[in-house]
Amino acid sequence: LVSLKGVDKHYGALHVLQDINLEIARGEVVVLIGPSGSGKSTLCRTINRLETIDSGSIAIDGRPLPAEGKELARLRADVGMVFQSFNLFAHKTVLENVVLAQVKVRKVPRAQAEATARELLERVGVGAQADKYPAQLSGGQQQRVAIARALAMKPKVMLFDEPTSALDPEMVNEVLEVMRSLAAEGMTMVVVTHEMGFARSAANRVLFMADGRIVEENTPDAFFTAPRSDRAKDFLSKIL
Ligand code: ATP
Ligand code: MG
Repeated sequence: LVSLKGVDKHYGALHVLQDINLEIARGEVVVLIGPSGSGKSTLCRTINRLETIDSGSIAIDGRPLPAEGKELARLRADVGMVFQSFNLFAHKTVLENVVLAQVKVRKVPRAQAEATARELLERVGVGAQADKYPAQLSGGQQQRVAIARALAMKPKVMLFDEPTSALDPEMVNEVLEVMRSLAAEGMTMVVVTHEMGFARSAANRVLFMADGRIVEENTPDAFFTAPRSDRAKDFLSKIL
């Protein structure tokens, strides 16, 4: 479903992505871990073209990433993204946050968009908050709204970049629960996270990145019990 071939990217002298080759199948949950600065966020952001690449190619569902215009907007709608910061529209209600892009990008009639929004808000456990503003919600609730907003576009793949790392500890689980249920329902997901419990229980595959490269790739069990590279061993010894 997601295909990266020979992807390279530089920031000036920094070779931030080096020859990234990655095939993600439909329904697969891939967890991306690695030290700070290794390129995890950059890799995520290239997949919906928030970042350009210098060489190589990226395709979603067999279609190469379009450069701009309507095609790009459509592609972005196919690739849902949830960031560390919730990025909700502060001056719009929770409901409106989930309705807006459906109407603007997917051209869904408003009544239908609202019905979908209410359904999704219910599903992520914040149905009762629909008429509030983001600032009136807890961090965990806001992040679940952000997930509902991404899902409203009926994405083919969801990218999560450290979705729980800005949350107070007691709110982490409510967000991970939503992600677990999405994974169980067959959503294709790429998840950057330090939540190793989530990686172990929900991932089909763990990718370990260091210095802009995918250094190791394995099942979660094999990766956590028997990492092959020194970089991965060193990283795991620091976080586990
Ligand atoms: P973290 O775990 O801290 O989020 P990461 O693995 O997500 O790290 P990236 O954010 O992808 O790392 O950054 C990779 C490298 O690229 C870092 O050295 C970073 O400083 C650099 N970098 C990121 N964005 C830019 C930019 N817009 N301009 C220049 N350098 C950048
Ligand atoms: Mg990052």
